[in-house]
Amino acid sequence: MDYIKLKEEFKTPFYLYDFDLIKSRFLELKSAFKARKSQIFYAMKANSNLSLLQMLARLDSGFDCVSIGEVKRALRVGAKPYKIIFSGVGKSEEELEQALKFDILYINLESEEEMLLLESVAKRLELKARISIRVNPNVDAKTHPYISTGLNENKFGVELDVARKMYLYAAKSEFLEPVGVHFHIGSQLLDISPIHEAALIVAKLLRELKALKIELKFFDVGGGLGVGYEGEEEPCLYDYAQGILENLSGLDVTIGLEPGRFLVAQSGMLVCSVLYEKITPKKRFMVVDAAMNDLIRPSLYNAYHEIVLPYTKGELSSCDVVGGICESGDFFAKDRRLAKSKSGDIVLIKEAGAYGFTMSSNYNTRPRICELALENGIIKMVRKREKFEDLIALEEEFLKDS
Ligand SMILES: *Cc1c(COP(=O)(O)O)cnc(C)c1O
Repeated sequence: MDYIKLKEEFKTPFYLYDFDLIKSRFLELKSAFKARKSQIFYAMKANSNLSLLQMLARLDSGFDCVSIGEVKRALRVGAKPYKIIFSGVGKSEEELEQALKFDILYINLESEEEMLLLESVAKRLELKARISIRVNPNVDAKTHPYISTGLNENKFGVELDVARKMYLYAAKSEFLEPVGVHFHIGSQLLDISPIHEAALIVAKLLRELKALKIELKFFDVGGGLGVGYEGEEEPCLYDYAQGILENLSGLDVTIGLEPGRFLVAQSGMLVCSVLYEKITPKKRFMVVDAAMNDLIRPSLYNAYHEIVLPYTKGELSSCDVVGGICESGDFFAKDRRLAKSKSGDIVLIKEAGAYGFTMSSNYNTRPRICELALENGIIKMVRKREKFEDLIALEEEFLKDS
C-alpha cells in the first residue's frame, strides 16, 4: 500500500478499511456454523459506516442494533426488516414504537419493566411484538471489566428465573410473541469456554420452556469473539461453533450470531502523521495528528494497538505515541520501541476497524476524520472528513446578534 500517495490525496489522519478482509471473515464465520441454520447479525456499533453495512447486507448479513438510529442505518442500506434485531439495556418508548412499526425480526428485552412497556406500546399500536430475552447466565467472561457483561453484577440481561417468568408472561400476552433467547457475556474473549458454558445454561432453559409449550426459534449467542491485537492466538471458529452446536441437540433453532469486533477490527487502521518529536528529561514523545477523539480505545481500556512507521528507519528506542488533546489520557501507546521519526512521517495504528470511528467525537472541536475503504484492489472514500462548519451548524442559530 502506498501510504504516501494516499496522504497526498486525502491528507492524514484517516481510517482505512479492507472490505475484502471483512467479507472473507464473514464467510468464514458463516461456514463454521454450516451444520445448522444460522444467521449472522452484524453488531454494527463496532463500525457502522454505511458502505460497510451495504457490503454486508449484500452478503445476506443481518444486523444487531443498539439504537433506533442503527436500525435506520440498516434499513438505509437495504437490509430487510426480518434481518434486523434490536438490543440494548435502555431502549426508550419511542424507540420501541418505531422498532415495532418497522416490523423488525425481534426486540431483545433486558428487563421486566421493558417488557411491560413494550407490551403497552404493542397494544396501543394493535400489533404483536416479537421478543427475545437477554439472559444473564452469570458466567465470567474473563475480559476487561468495562466489556464484561455476563455476570450478575453487570447491568445487562436478566437472571434465569426472571427470564423464565417473563417467557411465561409473554406467552400468555395477546401483544407479545416470544421467539428467541439471547445472551452476550462480554467482548474481546480469547478464551471462548465461557460462551460454551453460557450456551449450555441457556439451552437448558430452552428445553424447560419447550416442555411448557413455549418453543423459541432463535438461539442468539451474541458476539464477543476476540481478536489478536497483540498477536494473541484467536479462538478457532470450528471449536467455537462445535462448543455451541453440541448443546443444541433436540432443539430446532436458528443460531443467531452477533459478531462485531471479529468481523471488522483487523480490517481497519488509523493512518496518521508525526507532528513533532518532543524529548523531555524523562521521556520521548511522538506527537501525531490523530488523537483520542479519533480512537479512544487506548485511553478508555488501556487497549493495545500495534504501531508501525512504514517509512521510518533507524534504531529503536522507547517512546510514548500521543495526540494533541489537553488530557494526559490522550495516548495511543506508552513505552513503545520505535525508530526516531521526523515531522510528516506516516504512522499506522493497526487493528482499529472496530470501536474506532464509531466511538470518535468532536472533543477539542476536532472534525471527525474521513474513512477510506479498499475493495477489489481499489481505494474509495466512504465518509468525508468533517468541516468546521459541520461542527457548529447546530449552534449557530442561537448566537446573539452582535
Ligand atoms: C456490542 C455487542 C455485540 C458485539 O460485540 P463484539 O465483542 O464486538 O463482537 C453483540 N451483541 C450485543 C448485544 C452487543 O451489545
